Amino acid sequence: MKLLEGKNILIVGVANKHSIASGIATSMFNHGANLAFTYQNERFKSKVELLAKGWNSNICLSCDVSNDEEIKNVFSKLEKIWEGIDVLVHAVGFAPSDQLDGDFLDSTTREGFKIAHDISSYSFIGLAKAAKKSMEGRNGSLITLSYLGSQKTLPNYNVMGLAKASLEASVRFLAVSLGKEGHRVNAISAGPIKTLAASGIKNFKKMLSYNSDRAPLGRNVSTEEVGNAATFLASDLSSGITGETLYVDAGFNITAIGSLEETS
Ligand code: NAD
Repeated sequence: MKLLEGKNILIVGVANKHSIASGIATSMFNHGANLAFTYQNERFKSKVELLAKGWNSNICLSCDVSNDEEIKNVFSKLEKIWEGIDVLVHAVGFAPSDQLDGDFLDSTTREGFKIAHDISSYSFIGLAKAAKKSMEGRNGSLITLSYLGSQKTLPNYNVMGLAKASLEASVRFLAVSLGKEGHRVNAISAGPIKTLAASGIKNFKKMLSYNSDRAPLGRNVSTEEVGNAATFLASDLSSGITGETLYVDAGFNITAIGSLEETS
């Protein structure tokens, strides 16, 4: 029996084949899950529909996570297709590009702060609220994606670091709220990966090489590796784990000084 056989899983956050959500979908599909997807708006519709076919799914629903009505619609439509939902994957993040370029104090604005927190953090709570009824009695798992910028500073990540800190705190609070229902809530803190969202961060390429140079495994991680960790958190193998942030970053976060060897 496959790890996710019979589980109905909604994945929010596929933009294209490079998305972390696509790595998650591939792993979950390989482990037997039934998958449904949302896409942000019409611009992403055909791409997500095509990718979904490859994961044997024809359930693709429009959902801008800044809009409560759209979130509600997703679950009322899913209710008509599935008996219930076992797993919710939230792989969404956004801040306006002017927030992710330059000095933190100079770049951060009230509006930028609001947008970053709304899309990257509140949306997980909004989705969890809307999913609650469909997940009832199913000992479900909710998974979101974070980054080390929630704990430590780095250039240009700026207000996204604050939004990810808020997201990780919400994982803990949600774990308590939903623990009563038997559901688990966890985050994966992924190492840097070249995706559409990452391309909005100034000097992202330099982050990639800095990370691989310093990480104990001496490389960056792939979306498939993040996907496999998500499969674990979605499966009954992780039944005792909730409220956690699991690092999938080739070990980067544990180092203070990576190596004292001359690099050049
Ligand atoms: P991506 O661009 O492929 O995915 C981001 C997704 O967010 C897209 O599907 C986009 O459509 C969606 N999105 C943005 N605003 C939205 C809105 N208003 N409504 C609905 N959807 C919206 O990039 P990714 O790197 O795969 O990002 C997925 C998650 O992983 C994000 O939370 C990101 O912060 C996190 N993450 C990324 C990295 C990295 O280096 N790429 C590292 C750690 C964590």
